[in-house]
Amino acid sequence: MDQIPAINILGIPVHDVTMTETLDLITQFVAQGGAHQICTINPEFIIAAQNDLEFKRILNQAALNLPDGIGVVWAAKRKGHVLRERVAGSDLIYQLAARAAKTGWKIFLLGAADGVADQTAIKLRSIYPSVNIVGAWAGSPQPEADSEAVQRIRATEADIVLVAYGAPKQDKWIDRNVARTGASVAIGVGGSFDFVVGTQRRAPQWIRRLNLEWLYRLVREPWRWRRQLALPRFVWKVIRNP
Ligand code: UDP
Repeated sequence: MDQIPAINILGIPVHDVTMTETLDLITQFVAQGGAHQICTINPEFIIAAQNDLEFKRILNQAALNLPDGIGVVWAAKRKGHVLRERVAGSDLIYQLAARAAKTGWKIFLLGAADGVADQTAIKLRSIYPSVNIVGAWAGSPQPEADSEAVQRIRATEADIVLVAYGAPKQDKWIDRNVARTGASVAIGVGGSFDFVVGTQRRAPQWIRRLNLEWLYRLVREPWRWRRQLALPRFVWKVIRNP
């Protein structure tokens, strides 16, 4: 894929890729070398980027912006475009581990609460015994902690770094550091480690099929309501900006 087709939603490009195409692109990125940033876009990202110009710049420079939230698929449809698939970071982590088990990619897990990255590594190794997870560390999204994380990642010669600090911290972390890590790909994966480990539960399949995972999350994690106010704001902005 030379030019990845993208749809612009309120100033943010979202790429029209399937899960399989995503894995193929990651394969290309690793083969090419150089630093590639991958972001998992949902309406909260797009609303946050309206006021946070640094975040907006980062999302506009990313090598790949995945349609993570059903809201972006809906917004594209309203504009008469099709995003063929929702590619969620929390699904990608498993698919990536499965592909890595075949290709031998070295994967580093950075972020989440203390010990969660380690447990994520243990869980992924139990599902995909040949997966090569070369490091796992909570670290911190604060810039003061950057050099230590970079050194740890460099020392492992990781190909791919998964960064779980939530948006926009994880995406800013990647923007500041990916080139120095020596990794070819860095992906902001939000709460995916918590889902893998089971400290957070994903919505059951039937709720996901009804495209109501966002509502499930609001009910299970009501303290997120303030962040999820982004959803009605997003719907309103999309309707007003045809
Ligand atoms: N997180 C972290 N340090 C922080 C803030 C968040 O490690 O300073 C982690 C948190 O433990 C969780 C992940 O970031 O594992 C994602 O958080 P959230 O659910 O808010 O992100 P989302 O999936 O909504 O992007």
